Amino acid sequence: MPSSPAPNKESCNPMTAPLSRPVDGYKIAVLDGDGIGPEVMQAARQVLTATGIIFQWESVSAGAAGIALYGKAMPDESLAMIKAAHASLKGPTSTPIGHGHTSANVALRKALSLYANLRPVQSLPGVPTRYEGVDLVIVRENTEDLYAGLEHVVVPGVVVGMKVITETASLRIAEFAFQHAVKHGRRRVTAVHKANIMKLADGLFLNCCRRVATKYPSVSYDEVIVDALCMQLVKDPTRFDTLVLENLYGDIVSDLCAGLVGGLGVVPGANIGEDCAVFEAVHGSAPDIAGKNIANPTAILLSSCMMLEFLNEPEAAKQVRRAIDEVYSKTRIRTPDLGGTATTDVFTNAVIDQVKRYVQEAASAS
Ligand code: NAD
Repeated sequence: MPSSPAPNKESCNPMTAPLSRPVDGYKIAVLDGDGIGPEVMQAARQVLTATGIIFQWESVSAGAAGIALYGKAMPDESLAMIKAAHASLKGPTSTPIGHGHTSANVALRKALSLYANLRPVQSLPGVPTRYEGVDLVIVRENTEDLYAGLEHVVVPGVVVGMKVITETASLRIAEFAFQHAVKHGRRRVTAVHKANIMKLADGLFLNCCRRVATKYPSVSYDEVIVDALCMQLVKDPTRFDTLVLENLYGDIVSDLCAGLVGGLGVVPGANIGEDCAVFEAVHGSAPDIAGKNIANPTAILLSSCMMLEFLNEPEAAKQVRRAIDEVYSKTRIRTPDLGGTATTDVFTNAVIDQVKRYVQEAASAS
């Protein structure tokens, strides 16, 4: 069988992803990760395979596997494989608290300049929560802020951690937020800040958002202080549309927003740069439920849909989304995080059955 050209810079570029299916399949770098990572990643591979599209899964070491093999949570060898793939799908990786190795995620995002962390937060049909009709997009700056990892002990008992905010990164993430809003017909971008206290750092971020906003008159723009945002989100999340945030606020607000629509098991995400994209759920490695076959795979399945869209496979993305919606709205199959008793496998198989049905229907209709 003829092989497709090696993925080049363009093939990875979010703006110019592959124009057609490579004959020998999409090369997908797969980072299983730690904890529940391998369980939910297996579910994602099975569901993606059910679409009938050919994928070449290229296993990439990260997290504990990276440390065991190469002594680093995000080894250079893994970064090279991610760069060479058409796209990457990543499971969560654990980071020790207060000691130990640095975060594989921070290393990945910085090394490949995956500057935009895109996290759509939407109510799922049949997943009852206190809120209906939640439809938010979180655009989180992914490369700087307090995640620059610059902290030191000045004298014993005094630690300084540096918050790095640059004009370049702030303009870039604001552009991403507005371009995303325009492309997806969204009505408003809200910049989130604490510039009343961090007048210079958050002041610069806000100033950049304001400058970019003037270029997009068709999208409304406003601003909110991060603590007020949290209160308003809990009172009525439907008041907001697209949120653009610095790294730390984006991290925290993402988990808050996940709680509005059923929890961390259902919220997907993508890390997007100029040259590469890595798709991963918002949740972490969930060590409390790892190995029990009860993790909810919805978040990584929806992240896989984002990857399919990135690969210019909108029909397959629609089929997977529809299958997930169908399982939630027409069955009582739920993992324990949503009050059910289904295992990861049972939920995944229910989605796979639906995907196969849609694929067959599409084949017989054509
Ligand atoms: P977590 O997201 O792993 O878990 C928080 C809670 O949500 C837990 O009770 C967990 O059981 C539940 N949960 C998470 N995902 C779930 C799923 N798919 N299905 C059902 N329940 C789910 O957050 P944490 O406990 O704060 O972090 C654990 C580890 O994960 C830490 O080492 C942290 O550094 C890491 N982490 C990694 C990433 C990433 O790789 N992108 C993101 C966040 C946290």
